[in-house]
Amino acid sequence: MISEPMNSTICPKCGNETPKLFQGRCKNCFLETFTLAEIAPVLHTKICSSCGARNVKSKWVNVGSLKDVVVQAAEDALFVHELAENIEVYVQPREATPYLFKVHIEADAILLDEMFHQDLETEIRVIRESCDMCSRISGGYFESIMQIRATNRIPGDEEKIKCINIVNDVLERMRNKGDRLAFISNTAEIKEGTDLYLGSSNAGRHICKEIVSRLGGSFTESATLQGRKDGKDVYRVTFSLRLPEFMPHDFIEHKGRIIEIRKFGKNVSGIDVETGARFTVAPDELDGARLLINRKDLQKTILVAIENNDLLVLDPDTYETVTIKKPIMFTAEAGTDIPVIKTEKGLLAVADVSK
Ligand SMILES: [Zn+2]
Ligand SMILES: [Zn+2]
Repeated sequence: MISEPMNSTICPKCGNETPKLFQGRCKNCFLETFTLAEIAPVLHTKICSSCGARNVKSKWVNVGSLKDVVVQAAEDALFVHELAENIEVYVQPREATPYLFKVHIEADAILLDEMFHQDLETEIRVIRESCDMCSRISGGYFESIMQIRATNRIPGDEEKIKCINIVNDVLERMRNKGDRLAFISNTAEIKEGTDLYLGSSNAGRHICKEIVSRLGGSFTESATLQGRKDGKDVYRVTFSLRLPEFMPHDFIEHKGRIIEIRKFGKNVSGIDVETGARFTVAPDELDGARLLINRKDLQKTILVAIENNDLLVLDPDTYETVTIKKPIMFTAEAGTDIPVIKTEKGLLAVADVSK
């Protein structure tokens, strides 16, 4: 009697010797009944009719376009054999109606050193609902109010647009990270500025920090108890954003000096137009300062000649020749246009320094 090698066994299906069993059969018997991939013939996927989010395991997530949602739904429902390796799946959806996609799937994989290919068909029925976020928005839900105001003045339209753009940037970034409360449910234009009603206080805090870092100013927050929900105190948070009194490149008159503002945050910094000296104060030290003009609105006039530390220029209103002091860091040449500012001290030349 010949004894069998230690590393061989008998296939219970065909009776042949085999070095290894695959799910209880030899390789040939196993591959005879093997299916690489399977998918249900009909699938259902829920999307939000407003924002297009997809409902996955009862959670709403942003996936992308409707086509992306369909491809992902097909991939999620595809069952590929657990022994398959180097799996490649190609999903081709075709829109039959806005509610029905016919999907062709091709799967390639290696299993037991052999290449396998399989074509599959399924259809995906799209169910449209309103997601958690869009339901909240349409219901006017909010957890915080953000008041956009300015120090000692009313915010202008241009800077309100700047603020709203920053708000939308921040909210979009938060939503892309999966925050379903990063939304505005209401906007109110009032005399003093704009009020935004936000889905979370976290969103309000992120927005205020971003606006202050980009436009200057400051913000405070205060919470008021609204009641209790599920045994927890519920607060509503009000963010009071104060845009700076003066914006970068505003020229102001302050205690007899003409200052070009550079930054208006916790501290105010700028440059003295006449001396070129640096200027730094706390915002409340600017009480009584007066806005003259912003750099972008400065008048220009012809620089007739430069004589030592004086400039000969034409007054832009009267066209008379006037002699004014040459500012520090002044590089313009005679015959060119230079920016000037009219002040109580008369005409001043403004050095055309880069920011
Ligand atoms: Zn066999
Ligand atoms: Zn939605």
